[in-house]
Amino acid sequence: MPVGAADLTALIALCRAEIDRHSEALSVLDSAIGDGDHGANMRRGLEAVFAEREAVAALPLPAALERIGVVLVMNIGGAAGPLYGTLMMELGRGLKLEPDMADFAATLEQAIAAVARRGRAGPGDKTLLDVLYSVQAEVRRRATPRHIAACARSAAQSTQAMQARRGRASFLGPRSIGHEDPGASSCALLTATICGYFEERLAS
Ligand code: ADP
Ligand code: MG
Repeated sequence: MPVGAADLTALIALCRAEIDRHSEALSVLDSAIGDGDHGANMRRGLEAVFAEREAVAALPLPAALERIGVVLVMNIGGAAGPLYGTLMMELGRGLKLEPDMADFAATLEQAIAAVARRGRAGPGDKTLLDVLYSVQAEVRRRATPRHIAACARSAAQSTQAMQARRGRASFLGPRSIGHEDPGASSCALLTATICGYFEERLAS
């Protein structure tokens, strides 16, 4: 499925609206096990991408994704900025001009591995990577967008039971158990937004 400028502009607007809508809730999650700024951080990042959406969407897909990564690093801040930034920059650097599903799946795996190296984190550490690994597994088996979104949500939920081993939440030790990880939550929201868009495009 080719992804053009109109798709990118629409996706950026949808992601920005979704983060805006949930910004408060993300910060509430971060208040429980971090410093309470994750919603504001994500909102700042998505607003900055939104402000550049026309210029970004005019770029070829790989360059557009890379640019989004740079803007996210510069604007989200915190721990999440470099991680979301790495994900998008590596996706952009790895993708061909007109990737098929196999290219996308392979590049996504490389990008997620780069995020893991950057965060020195792995599965079960209670971070956004727990959602990314779930997305990776579903993309690998070519699940439908609807199913990928549902798995992302359930992966975010499953971070509740985990003890944080990375990031600020790890300072709490066992007291981090019982709360959903804010980064996992924002990652599931963004995944669901992107998947919802492609689900509709497949249906039309
Ligand atoms: P900060 O922790 O600097 O305030 P944010 O609140 O914006 O940054 O982001 C926190 C989220 O970042 C966490 O919920 C977690 O998902 C993610 N995170 C933090 N540290 C790491 C890490 N080392 N590896 C992977 N993800 C991490
Ligand atoms: Mg925080």
